[in-house]
Amino acid sequence: MKVEDSFQLEQYKLPKNVYDATRSLNALLRRILPESVRKTVEADLRRFAKRIHDGVGRLAEGPHNEPRLVQYDHYGRRVDRLETSEGWRKLKDIAAEEGIVGIAFERQTGEYARVHQFAKIYLWVGDSRVVGCPMSMTDGAARVIEKYGTPLMKSSILPLLTTRDTTHAWTAGQFMTEKPGGSDVSRTETVATRAPGQGSTIQPGDLYILDGFKWFSSATDGNVALSLARTGGPGSSGLSLFLLPLKARSFLPGSEASNNGVFVHRMKQKIGTRAVPTAELSITGAHAYLVGELGQGVRNIATVLNITRMHSAFHAVGSVGRALMIATSYAGVRKVLNTNTGEYVLLQDLPIHTSFLLDTALLHHALLHLLIPLSLFLGKSELGSSTPAEESRLRLLTPVAKAFAGQRASKSVQDCIEALGGLGYMEEEPLSRLMRDSLVERIWEGTGSVLAGDVCRVIGKSKHKAMDYYLEWAYSILASSTPHPSVSLLTAQLHTISHATHRVAKGSYDPRLPPALLAALGYTTASLSMVQQANWASQTPGEEGELEWEMLNRWLGKAGESLRELERLAVGEGQKELEVERVIVHGRAKL
Ligand SMILES: Cc1cc2nc3c(=O)[nH]c(=O)nc-3n(C[C@H](O)[C@H](O)[C@H](O)COP(=O)(O)OP(=O)(O)OC[C@H]3O[C@@H](n4cnc5c(N)ncnc54)[C@H](O)[C@@H]3O)c2cc1C
Repeated sequence: MKVEDSFQLEQYKLPKNVYDATRSLNALLRRILPESVRKTVEADLRRFAKRIHDGVGRLAEGPHNEPRLVQYDHYGRRVDRLETSEGWRKLKDIAAEEGIVGIAFERQTGEYARVHQFAKIYLWVGDSRVVGCPMSMTDGAARVIEKYGTPLMKSSILPLLTTRDTTHAWTAGQFMTEKPGGSDVSRTETVATRAPGQGSTIQPGDLYILDGFKWFSSATDGNVALSLARTGGPGSSGLSLFLLPLKARSFLPGSEASNNGVFVHRMKQKIGTRAVPTAELSITGAHAYLVGELGQGVRNIATVLNITRMHSAFHAVGSVGRALMIATSYAGVRKVLNTNTGEYVLLQDLPIHTSFLLDTALLHHALLHLLIPLSLFLGKSELGSSTPAEESRLRLLTPVAKAFAGQRASKSVQDCIEALGGLGYMEEEPLSRLMRDSLVERIWEGTGSVLAGDVCRVIGKSKHKAMDYYLEWAYSILASSTPHPSVSLLTAQLHTISHATHRVAKGSYDPRLPPALLAALGYTTASLSMVQQANWASQTPGEEGELEWEMLNRWLGKAGESLRELERLAVGEGQKELEVERVIVHGRAKL
């Protein structure tokens, strides 16, 4: 039999407008955005979703679009030329045109600018080939310059990083990770030496000469980078932040093209994010300009991390959203045998299949409820209109959101692969790429364990104040809710969290507690937002209040295990258990 004569599988089609098809996001924006802002934002999201559908989707697809390093030319000269594909460059242009960074700095919708920006990023994740990675670092660098840059940096660089004009839009990288450790930059080996001929006192904007080796750089095709380098003694306090031109000796536009002593040593051979030019770089005598105060490098680059972590979290939920959309679209065309009735039915009419996808659907809904309100906090903070309590929540919850979303996304994408059976495992299906790409959200900008430690540091350093603010806010949401069993359950969860965080603030807690606390905060914060949504929907004609409560109920069921784990770990330090676990994982030989 010819293949054409055999059974023909029906091809699934994705909805024409991803925005209109994403109920959770639509409903959330209807609640959060004021009417006039919503009209502007929704019009832009719908137009962009159509643009994605009509052509952007296939750009930079496939191995031939991966970046490559040409180290020597045909005359035998060392050139170290990074070649990226036309598709990749087009994606960067689209990012600029669409204001993927610009929206956040134009601030046309005031404090809602970040909500607008991240909703747009969410829609694009499935088709963007992770161009959002360099965009996230560009966004972070722009914010650092806005906060700590010299007047010259603000007038000459900031507009290039945030413009929508593709003829002169720039991208920026973040040079933090070195071989001694990405999670811990305190052992940074790159050294910055003050250039001769500077004034008698050290000033932001002073010229330095950098020498070192950067182990991961994902914006290798960028125009500038923010780099950490050592200006003082050992440890983090000896690190300063620099603006490093990558295509010229000086950061002033128009200066002569050169690599400024930054050589691509090797391209990273990665599991995913393959269109992104991630490389190892050696830096030799590069000119760079001090950003902010000397010795404040780690504090200043934290501004970048708060933004890139938000991008990472939205990339995670964007991957889940796209994978779910593929799985449910396929369920609408694929017929299988219902073994209970003996009939052939669409997968979407098979309860066991629906139940298999339920966790992913709930995760997607909950992550949007965790992240969209957090992006509003960021927008408010950048406008200077947030209260100390809101600032504190933003600091506490950004690492929570990043790790919580990143750790769960790739697992959900895997479920969606299974939902397509053998087809799901094919390279031609976007699911394979989504799975590989979403894995990185567990690692870059901080792994789960490292971010869990960061959350505990925030609580400890603030002597529990960060949690007091959080709990006050959380209880006030529950107090203003209509009575519901979910609200009582959440109240109990907050007690468990509070018990654990008081131990953290005292500095005596089980070393396994931080990840459990992070998970509990992730579940609970998403739930609080879902409570607000359910109350609003119940009181708003045309909204689906009952469904919102139902989703919250089921989500709380998922949270149970994490909360029980936190409760268990908050009781004591479990030294004996730690020893046993060490044997289970590493064996006796290492004891
Ligand atoms: C594709 C890709 C692109 C990247 N692009 C960039 C880039 O553009 N710029 C940049 O600066 N970096 C970049 N990175 C680097 C990335 O940020 C680091 O890999 C990451 O921060 C982890 O650091 P590490 O690789 O040194 O791992 P390590 O820090 O060695 O971590 C190894 C393991 O130890 C655990 N661990 C480490 N410290 C602790 C601790 N204190 N407590 C508990 N557990 C701990 C971690 O959770 C992890 O499981 C990129 C990474 C990838 C994969």
